[in-house]
Amino acid sequence: MQTFLVTGGLGFIGANFILKARKQKLANIINIDKLTYAANPLTLAELQDDSGYNFVRGDIGDIDLVIKILEQYQPDAIINFAAESHVDRSILSPIDFIQTNVVGTFQLLEASIAYWQNLSSLKRASFRFLHISTDEVYGSLSPTDPAFREDTPYAPNSPYAASKAGSDHLVRAYYHTYGLPTVTTNCSNNYGPCQFPEKLIPLMILNALNGKPLPIYGDGQNVRDWLYVEDHCDAIYLVLQQSSIGETYNVGGNNEQDNLTVVKKICEILDELVPQPGLSRSELVTFVKDRPGHDRRYAIDCSKIKRDLGWEPKESFESGLLKTIQWYLNNPNWVEQVQSGNYQNWIAKNYGDR
Ligand code: NAD
Repeated sequence: MQTFLVTGGLGFIGANFILKARKQKLANIINIDKLTYAANPLTLAELQDDSGYNFVRGDIGDIDLVIKILEQYQPDAIINFAAESHVDRSILSPIDFIQTNVVGTFQLLEASIAYWQNLSSLKRASFRFLHISTDEVYGSLSPTDPAFREDTPYAPNSPYAASKAGSDHLVRAYYHTYGLPTVTTNCSNNYGPCQFPEKLIPLMILNALNGKPLPIYGDGQNVRDWLYVEDHCDAIYLVLQQSSIGETYNVGGNNEQDNLTVVKKICEILDELVPQPGLSRSELVTFVKDRPGHDRRYAIDCSKIKRDLGWEPKESFESGLLKTIQWYLNNPNWVEQVQSGNYQNWIAKNYGDR
């Protein structure tokens, strides 16, 4: 069985990927995660006794630690999910984004090169560094522009998008300059189980459930493509197994929706699943001052990954949203952990300063 070093595997997408890899016995996993506010160890609690899963608390920017892990576990691939990932936070505090997304990725690449160069020629040839990035690096589209393709020029508009663009360029440079076998995927907005409730869909689910206002930026007409996280994880595994080196792939859900429509759909589903007499939850929608530099529209053309690797999204938005809402309804302990102030104390108690 293959072994993957996953970074940021206690976050939303990384954790979903690890669960898939372990449940389907696709690979053994070592997960390095810094345990920022966005990490939730409860997501992977079910792997506690799994001998094919190992966790190390650490920073991808700690090159000595990463090299030690690589030498100890000898992975066949590195999948870099670790990032500061929330645009609003990047506007308030860009430095954390530069530190992890740019400098951290650089240090991870340096550690990877040191490890990769010392592998046997057979293992060196099959090794992959897969970098997980975003469609936000391409900037904003007008309603009539064609969707982003892999050759769309980068035009990031937020500190988050700029930091991810910087990391993508470094990954590209390490392939072209040093021959490190890299692949980059740029995906659209993911949704599904275990997403930290600062992102649109889980935030709206939990606020609507608790009768709180549903804050929507501007006029609510900003359009995003929505990709169900399990479809994304399938794409990542396929790219790892089949992609040529130096490639980039766009991964999307073929599912453009404006924010207001998404929120209204969530309200409709919740009104049906958990009716609250006298309340139609869409009445909780509140328009708030727009985010500075808010991109109007993202859309992904994922015909390349379909053509080259045969991947396309399977989940419809309606069924994916229903599954996601049901997951949040069925996992109140998880929700409580990420929302309570005790959560940070819990991390300190369980992981200390390790
Ligand atoms: P997330 O914020 O849920 O999780 C990020 C994880 O990385 C957390 O567990 C955090 O503790 C960890 N981390 C942060 N800094 C670290 C560091 N320096 N060293 C080690 N670990 C660190 O993010 P996510 O939504 O799972 O996104 C994963 C990747 O996918 C990111 O690179 C993000 O840019 C990209 N992406 C996400 C989306 C989306 O919709 N969620 C869309 C496009 C691209």
